[in-house]
Amino acid sequence: MKFDKILEYQRIDQELIALENEVAKSKAYKDYASAKARFDAAKAGIIKLSQEAAEMLAGYAKLTGRADKLKESLDEFNGILDGVDDVGETDYYIKQIASISDEITALEKEIQRDNDRIDGINAEYKKTFDSGVKATDEYKKAYAAYNAFIQEMKPRVDAMQKALKDLRAGIEPAFMEAYDSLRTAKKFPAFVEYEVGSDVCGRCFMELSGDIKGKLKNPGDYAECPNCRRILFVPGK
Ligand SMILES: [Zn+2]
Repeated sequence: MKFDKILEYQRIDQELIALENEVAKSKAYKDYASAKARFDAAKAGIIKLSQEAAEMLAGYAKLTGRADKLKESLDEFNGILDGVDDVGETDYYIKQIASISDEITALEKEIQRDNDRIDGINAEYKKTFDSGVKATDEYKKAYAAYNAFIQEMKPRVDAMQKALKDLRAGIEPAFMEAYDSLRTAKKFPAFVEYEVGSDVCGRCFMELSGDIKGKLKNPGDYAECPNCRRILFVPGK
């Protein structure tokens, strides 16, 4: 009959959709998705900590560089007081030395604080890295299990896809076009049997006008439901 092929197509397509839903709801898929989320989080954490550590180390290098320069300038005062008798001059140098010395002490404290923070980042990094290694391991395992699950279904999926492709060639283009657009809109089934004389669409149950009912009188007739846009058909020819 006129609708045999499109109905066969619809049946196989729905089976395929059911299979896809089964995959999406499977434990293998859920395990895989959650392992991937943990893996992604660990990866992001490692990247963030590496950036923080790099910034910290750059700041630390700057501070130690400044401390080294100050130490050098302090060295310049070495022996400078040996030949100085003047009290005022002596006082001046001593004050200079004391001030540089204070600055070095302050810097060293800052450096120590940075050092502690770098140690903190390092510890956190190790922890994140360890959990990252674990997450990677779990991710690999979950992926392998999911993949095995998919591979198991593949022959069935392939067979269904091939059947759909073969059927498609023999289906009236207008039917196929209507079906594809309803499928995209997730309206299943797309082709709905109509019982001659019925007042409603068999799927959305919207009342049909006399005009539409007039188009659905004999086997082989078909019309679009004005509400849900599904194709209503009269079987038997
Ligand atoms: Zn309808």
